[in-house]
Amino acid sequence: MDPFVDQLKRLCVAYPTRAKWVFVPTHAIGRTLGDRIALEGTNWLNLRFVTSLDIALRMGAPFLVERGVHPSEEGLGPALMMRLLLDLPLERGYFRPLADHPTMAQALWTTVHELRMAGAHPENLKPEVFSSPAKNAELIALLGAYEHFLGQNERGDMATVYEEALKHPDWCPIQSQDCWTELPDTVWSPLQRLLIDSMPGERLYPRAFELSGVRVPRRLMSRRTERLMADFATNELAFVMSPASAPARTSPKIALFHAGGREAEIEEVFRRILATGASLDQVEIACASDAHVALIWEKALRHNWPVTLGSGIPAAFTRPGRALIGLCDWIETDFSAGHFRRLLQSGDLRLGDEVEGFTAGQAARLLGRAEAGWGRATYGLALGRLYKSYESRATDQDTSDEDRADAQAKAKLTARVRDWITGLVASLPEPAPDGKVRLQTVVSSVLDFLERTTARSNALDYCAAAALQDYVSELRALGSFSCTLSESLRFIRERVQSLNVAQERPRPGHLYACSLSQSGYAERGHLFIVGLEEGRVFSSSTEDAVLLDVERGAISSDLRLSTDRIDEAVYAVLVRVAASAASATFSYSCRDTREFRETYASWVMLQAFRLQRGDATLSYNAMKAALGEPKSAVPGDRQTALSSGGWWLRSVVGTGHTGIKALGSAFTGVVRGRTAEGRRQSAEFTEFDGYVPDAGPALDPCAPETVYSVTELENSSECPFRFFLKRGLGLRPVDERERDKDIWLDPLRRGSELHDLYAALLRRARDENRRPNKKDDIWLIVLAQERLRRLNEEMPAATEEIRERESKDFLADVELFLEAESGDSTSTPIGFEVSFGRPLNDDSESLARSEAVEIDLGKGITFRIAGRIDRIDKVDTASFEVIDYKTGGFWHDSWQGSFNGGRRLQHALYGLAAVELLKARYKDPRVTAGVYYFSSHKGHQERVKIPTPAKDAIAAVLGDLRDLIIKGQFIRTSDQDDCKFCNYVAACGGEVNRQAREKLPDLKLGAYRRLIAHV
Ligand code: SF4
Repeated sequence: MDPFVDQLKRLCVAYPTRAKWVFVPTHAIGRTLGDRIALEGTNWLNLRFVTSLDIALRMGAPFLVERGVHPSEEGLGPALMMRLLLDLPLERGYFRPLADHPTMAQALWTTVHELRMAGAHPENLKPEVFSSPAKNAELIALLGAYEHFLGQNERGDMATVYEEALKHPDWCPIQSQDCWTELPDTVWSPLQRLLIDSMPGERLYPRAFELSGVRVPRRLMSRRTERLMADFATNELAFVMSPASAPARTSPKIALFHAGGREAEIEEVFRRILATGASLDQVEIACASDAHVALIWEKALRHNWPVTLGSGIPAAFTRPGRALIGLCDWIETDFSAGHFRRLLQSGDLRLGDEVEGFTAGQAARLLGRAEAGWGRATYGLALGRLYKSYESRATDQDTSDEDRADAQAKAKLTARVRDWITGLVASLPEPAPDGKVRLQTVVSSVLDFLERTTARSNALDYCAAAALQDYVSELRALGSFSCTLSESLRFIRERVQSLNVAQERPRPGHLYACSLSQSGYAERGHLFIVGLEEGRVFSSSTEDAVLLDVERGAISSDLRLSTDRIDEAVYAVLVRVAASAASATFSYSCRDTREFRETYASWVMLQAFRLQRGDATLSYNAMKAALGEPKSAVPGDRQTALSSGGWWLRSVVGTGHTGIKALGSAFTGVVRGRTAEGRRQSAEFTEFDGYVPDAGPALDPCAPETVYSVTELENSSECPFRFFLKRGLGLRPVDERERDKDIWLDPLRRGSELHDLYAALLRRARDENRRPNKKDDIWLIVLAQERLRRLNEEMPAATEEIRERESKDFLADVELFLEAESGDSTSTPIGFEVSFGRPLNDDSESLARSEAVEIDLGKGITFRIAGRIDRIDKVDTASFEVIDYKTGGFWHDSWQGSFNGGRRLQHALYGLAAVELLKARYKDPRVTAGVYYFSSHKGHQERVKIPTPAKDAIAAVLGDLRDLIIKGQFIRTSDQDDCKFCNYVAACGGEVNRQAREKLPDLKLGAYRRLIAHV
């Protein structure tokens, strides 16, 4: 029983036709109370629920409108504060230097609003009240600027309306023959209080329970309320703070549980709702946090349960809200491509085949492939480069028709994505030379983005998008002014983060979720109070960030102090709980599954436990022991499962083999996965480890039409399994690479750029029939700098510092190379980047050729190979060396031996290929050695020279490699270093190297064992 509702019912019965006015803080509460009175069988004719603002508007608005004063956008407060704060001088400012702080504007607005509703004006802020003169001066300036803004724009805020209303008592809609009352235990602001207290007619003091063991908060103490003692039989929750005064018996109406996480807690609540058998509109869930409300919304949506939310959902939780925050983050990270890819992958953007001609996933993958970095220009440049590369592949006559068509389609897609992204970037305003942008231009482009690009997947998203349109548009009222881009984005963020959408009162047929202080008005039969963790239910009593308690007290005794905040919050919850006659279930989560830590019960939970057990002495430990095993997302009984997933989980958990068998009968994929994992764990080399003899003939490197690059052959020795995935199954890893912000040029790109510069230098010298010398220095450095400049344009470094540091190192390596090449040498470089077995395009190297080179190993075995030799040096009339540049570091131990188990083949195979290529120009050419040249500072200019191996030795290595391939021994590598940068790691599992090692003795791996034995 709720004494106030009871009082209203009696009033309706006693005075059926008299106008009976009830002041409530929100219309939702009023309508809920009205519904309840009607449902409980009382005719509520002429019972009028009004807010104090309704009455103030009736009394004051006509006069304001007559003077041309219109209502201000009340919700604009924080944004307006930010705007006014930015106009204040930065120097000697108190709050102004903190304008960047995300919650500053909200804190200032709360205080200014409070001061205004307490009737305070700038002249009331006396210097002696303030701890700091600077703070006093700034608050006076801010409050003054706010009043000036209202005056200048002919606007009136809520305080203006109340002040005006108080001047016109004769306009009050409540008449002397009426009666009126107010919702008990409501904290009204001083201006509201003044207006309510000035009402004519018969005043009825509201009735509420006396809560034993609870002190009435300071600001409510002076309000007259008729206090009644609760009856334990109907309102046992009124005794939650004084269980000792309740009759000693265990209450069946109170239940408690704890759960192993927030998600599990809500799942259990839903299961219990089903178990009650009650209709959804007989259930209310009171939540300690917004996150719980949002979770209930999601779960209800998943199970198709109709639900209304008293506190609504933060707009920032919806797709349009998340997309707007993502847009702000993207701009603030200097248009980071990594950030934009995540935004594309989030599903918060509206893209699709039918809208833009591509999906968000396709755009994200293309961005990754294009290696876009940061800055507005990066998208046009990087995607433009990718487009060109697809276009040139699409016209390459040496590739198959399918490959050309594929490249053509990819070029088209890339062009579409490029146009869309560059259009989006162009639509976002760029700061003027003074670093500022017009706020209204930013607002327009954000509204456009919201309308055209943000996704909507349910009714809530549509509702949020519409509300955000209005809410962001309110910034128009701030007028024309400019600020930095990041300041303007703060205005947008504030709009998104301060908006709650889809607030709804309890509705018939709907479950109702609300905050703790909103609960109990509808008097539903089942009340769940969730999220009762320590530190979550009530905030701490820290002082206000703007006005200290002592300053507040001196300005007005009605201003809220830090102790009031906590006292009033606790009291508000306890009075709501006390008035409820529902069966109540209290719960909390004992694990924070996001932060992987234990969480503890709040004192509310303990008090409920004591009340339930009828023993006021029980401790937290006793409660924890009594609660037993925390509830989990898996139901205790499968019959109570909310979904088929829960049903299955409960059915198989702990049932061992029987459960697995049952699961397998329904999900054959799971069975196959378990079988594969089991076989991989065995010592046998199986088809799940890469044993695929059937694939052997198709991948035979000696098959007539097959051409492998030397690098492919080396890689197949390193990890035969990867070779099979790539070449055998044609699997390509999803390109999820993200550029490392701390690195500008990754080792691959750096190496390739150095290779190009080395070749350019040596070609210039070759064309002039000389060796490189010191005079090439300026030419080479200018060329390198130009290349770096273009690279920075196409894929900018994250910071100038990174670009400068890497450029310096890069140029130092270029100079080192020139210095080394300028020294005396008996050899003459004659060929650079000599490719073979690949289309030549505009390759000008005379030794290059597009046909593959055939390596005849005797016994009818011939390899056809392709590749590109970094450099060929002539050491004697018909003797040559092949050089391979290594631009990384040198580790002596890694360069022992000749073949390294088939992983080092270049010196041998490029040597044989070079002989074939050189035959076009030299008689009986001979390659005497292969040289691995570590040309950079990191590599200390080491040269590893390996004399050309005997043909028999090469044949033995390649023979074993071929044997491995044609017998399908595609084992995974046992060396974890090989997996470090592998893109296929997801296909292999965590124990891959150990498993591979343990399988090595298997007889089926003979060829592989022989191959890795070649040193
Ligand atoms: S992760 Fe390791 S074992 Fe797996 S394919 Fe890559 S290199 Fe081979």
